[in-house]
Amino acid sequence: MTVPLLTEDSPLTKLLKKNEAEQLARTKGLFSVADLFEFVPRRYVRPGQLTDLSVLHVGEDVLVVAEVKTASTRPMRNRRGKMLTVVIGDDLGNELDVTFFSAYGHEGKLVPGVRGLFVGQIGAYGRRLQLTHPEYELFTDDDQGDAAVEWYRTHRVPVYSTTGKLNSLKLRKLVQQALDSVDRVREPVPEQVRVARGLVDRAVALELVHRPAVDDKPSRGLDRLKYDEAFVLQTILAQRRKAAESELATPRHPRPGGLLAAFDERLPFELTEGQREIGAVLTHELALDRPMHRLLQGEVGSGKTVVALRAMLAAIDAGGQAALLAPTEVLAAQHHRSITDMLGDLAQGGMLGGAEHGTTVTLLTGSQNAATRRRSLLDAASGTAGIVVGTHALIQKHVQFADLALVVVDEQHRFGVEQRDALREKGIRPPHVLVMTATPIPRTVAMTVFGDMETSTLRELPRGRSPITTHVVDADRPGWVDRTWQRVAEEVAKGHQAYVVCPRIGDVDDESGGLAGAAGTRDSSDEDAGWEAHWDDGDGYLGGGDGDLVEGDGAASSPAKELTGVYAMLSTLRSTPALEGLRIGVLHGRLDPEVKDATMRSFSAGEIDVLVATTVIEVGVDVPNASVMVVVDADRFGISQLHQLRGRVGRGAVPGLCLLMTQGAGEKAAERLDQVAATTDGFELARVDLQLRREGDVLGARQSGRANSVRHLRLGRAEDEQIIADAREDAFALVADDPELRAHPALAAAVAMRLDEEQAAWLERG
Ligand code: ADP
Ligand code: MG
Repeated sequence: MTVPLLTEDSPLTKLLKKNEAEQLARTKGLFSVADLFEFVPRRYVRPGQLTDLSVLHVGEDVLVVAEVKTASTRPMRNRRGKMLTVVIGDDLGNELDVTFFSAYGHEGKLVPGVRGLFVGQIGAYGRRLQLTHPEYELFTDDDQGDAAVEWYRTHRVPVYSTTGKLNSLKLRKLVQQALDSVDRVREPVPEQVRVARGLVDRAVALELVHRPAVDDKPSRGLDRLKYDEAFVLQTILAQRRKAAESELATPRHPRPGGLLAAFDERLPFELTEGQREIGAVLTHELALDRPMHRLLQGEVGSGKTVVALRAMLAAIDAGGQAALLAPTEVLAAQHHRSITDMLGDLAQGGMLGGAEHGTTVTLLTGSQNAATRRRSLLDAASGTAGIVVGTHALIQKHVQFADLALVVVDEQHRFGVEQRDALREKGIRPPHVLVMTATPIPRTVAMTVFGDMETSTLRELPRGRSPITTHVVDADRPGWVDRTWQRVAEEVAKGHQAYVVCPRIGDVDDESGGLAGAAGTRDSSDEDAGWEAHWDDGDGYLGGGDGDLVEGDGAASSPAKELTGVYAMLSTLRSTPALEGLRIGVLHGRLDPEVKDATMRSFSAGEIDVLVATTVIEVGVDVPNASVMVVVDADRFGISQLHQLRGRVGRGAVPGLCLLMTQGAGEKAAERLDQVAATTDGFELARVDLQLRREGDVLGARQSGRANSVRHLRLGRAEDEQIIADAREDAFALVADDPELRAHPALAAAVAMRLDEEQAAWLERG
């Protein structure tokens, strides 16, 4: 067969039948030869020699030559299709089971009497050893497999994630054919950098990854692919940073004796040192003629909002406006309320009794009635409103500002870069941007997802902040649940308040009292959908995405436990003697915004003792009098999410207590809860969390997809942190010298391709 000469741009239809190429495109996102090269094996089998069937061990990589003795199929218990079990054996009577969870394509070939070689890793099913989905090649009269045996003996055998009829063997041969047909592999990394970092050539790397000899180290090749991924990404970030530096912003000079000064004078507490220092940095950067682009991270309650507000006041003092973008209506309303409160008479600009230099704080959300909304839009456009607080309604086209000076984005995780950019376009010149996040950002993520921003971190909590104690409550143990509700009652008796957080809304019918206004099962109202997605796929979010390992494995899909809904919990609490007479409220994303807002107000005002809620309260909700939180079905939440949630208590002078209630949690989930209980160090938890999650989750639901995701890099791993740091250094140095990449066409092409992918992914998501 003559092999067509290919380039990395060649579509896979050059190597495959149309339907097969389509399948690879659809299921694996592989379109071109270049994509195929990036499709790295999940693992390797390395037999190294022919294996004797009489001595086998679990976990051993084997290469056996044997004959099919028996073959049988049977329907599977939990899914469609049938599985194939084959017994292979040698002349001495030694036997081994071979299993395929889909008989399709194998059934006709693996019939008694045929001989061949089988390659895989020995596993066990019950007490019998077996090979699951091994690679195999059958012998014919002409071919007794000598060449094949020789190949398997001398190579590590890549195992690819399979799809349909394209099993690992076919995929391996496909990749190898592609490697043989492309005569020049792209080399985006300049030689100088390759040498300095001791990286192998890309062509060598691809051989190491896809066709390693028995003693080769595929990891060296993979490190090169990781480096390339990081290098291209960092080049993009470096270019973005460079472009931002050349943008012209309106300098906003501080004005002594203005709003900020008046606010500082009224402040009932001392700023922490961190708040003061970062405040100075922000004031300085606001006064520059290029746009600030800064990430402010700090634990829940570390006082970010105060820092941001001070920057907004500085911007107003300089004649501009500020916009604060919040991820949910609850949060936007709360920010609006708390900023208005903090400002006091300073927020009553132009009104009777307002301070002389006062301004106006306006709220703009999607659910406002037409009249209110029109007013808000007018306030923003006319410049009457110094501060406009809103949800992503703020981003819409018809929202205009008189002179937008500063954009503050709260809880960046919920917003994509695109949304940030949409707001930036609302200024006459690009406004300054401050992004706040309470989720501690590990260095790898800071360098990639936020790699085009400067960062500031608030490390200390304001004085007077009380510690939070966390306990895991095993609901299966007798008395523990009762004790939990007693603790809640005790806190309320002391004049404090409680949250009870549930993983779903549930049906209103679950609640005997019959509250109107809500329906549905999950809290997936528009705004909340993004973060509810954290657990949307149930415990699956812990998985590594190795789909085909559990293919057909019925045991893996045990029926999910029914999750506790808000309304069912409300009903439970109402009939719990310990809580008799307490005022219990409900909050979740499906409620009318007015109802939500009214409920939050009553809770803030102390008119509700116990608030039963979904994760709506995860972010930013601030009621210092709340001292205890019970998280129901806590095993269904991720580490970071639990940490965020419990940050809602212990915000005032009262010590916080967080009770993580679980029932029949799996081992992994239990471990996760123990970790949350063991430390309140958000950075430590973020690190642990990152190791457990898929990257898409790390980057936030709205940011997953191809756009900001990474293919080879694992953001939770220390080794990859070094690779990213190296690539960042190299890329930033290169872009500083050659911003247009004129001397580096191959890199420029790789950058263009990556940006195209981002664009495509973005369009796809709409
Ligand atoms: P974050 O946004 O980081 O979660 P906030 O800015 O909302 O934190 O602050 C949480 C609470 O702490 C608010 O009630 C705020 O008024 C208060 N606070 C902020 N800074 C200080 C400080 N330096 N000293 C005392 N209390 C503070
Ligand atoms: Mg906050």
